[in-house]
Amino acid sequence: MIEIQIARHSGFCFGVREAINKATAVAASSSMPTRTYGPLIHNPQEIDRLKQGYGIEPIRDLEGYKKGNLIIRAHGVPPEDYKTAQVNDLNIIDATCRFVKDVQDYAVEFCRRGYELFVVGDEMHAEVIGIVGHARHEVPDCTIHVVSDLEQIIEKMPLRPAIVFQTTQEFTKFKKIEQYIKLNGLKWKIKNTICGATRSNQYAADELARMVDLMVVVGGRNSGNTKRLAEICSRHVCTRYVENSEELLPEWFNGISKVGITAGASTPQWLIDDVIERIEEIDKALEETNRVRRVKGSRGRV
Ligand code: SF4
Repeated sequence: MIEIQIARHSGFCFGVREAINKATAVAASSSMPTRTYGPLIHNPQEIDRLKQGYGIEPIRDLEGYKKGNLIIRAHGVPPEDYKTAQVNDLNIIDATCRFVKDVQDYAVEFCRRGYELFVVGDEMHAEVIGIVGHARHEVPDCTIHVVSDLEQIIEKMPLRPAIVFQTTQEFTKFKKIEQYIKLNGLKWKIKNTICGATRSNQYAADELARMVDLMVVVGGRNSGNTKRLAEICSRHVCTRYVENSEELLPEWFNGISKVGITAGASTPQWLIDDVIERIEEIDKALEETNRVRRVKGSRGRV
């Protein structure tokens, strides 16, 4: 029988839960349409549930959307988007996570104090676009770089750098840069803006992946933090990354005795429960197949 273990920390984070609560509350009490600027969370199944249950739908741009509710998602947006929403007479419900707001504030502050700003993160990610947007808006002549690691910062040969991190970056990136600064006696500014929820999920996934035969990581394929969990787990053990229970294949579980499960910060509990249920079903089916094989085998020996 397969033993299923769930990571000590996994699934919805504070920011995502808040954003969903705000969106559903406004949709339930308002006669105006409710739209989210981009998908509220990086999970297609949850987006679909919000659409079916509450009529909440994502929009790609603000052009043409007037007189409705607009949810700003947990990742935040650049200041220009707030202006466009105001011009369009939209009722703005700002669900930017407070940890993301902190990064935006640090970025602005460093630019104001004349530092060259480095944002460690994914240039194309909405959160990073928002962080850079706020810094540029407040200090238009600030030099800003988006980089993926320490090496890229060194390449730029900065004179007075200040470094912040996209909230979902791996904590090891912060540690590596911090150590480099200490070892070389540099006067670089560095702020650990990696979110605690992300860090707890990463630690718990890393810990569990060392103790099981197979890890199943549940979350949207467009979710950066889920991808990172899968990367972390795959360093220790065979790892399967699924969006939902339908993607689980029985053959993955053949000969497996311990399965670990973790999920990204944008994965709802009902999807995790579905996955657990499906693994239990697969386990039962495998047990039955093996039992029949054993019976046939013993008959054959007579
Ligand atoms: S991962 Fe952290 S920063 Fe991002 S929304 Fe969740 S709580 Fe906020």
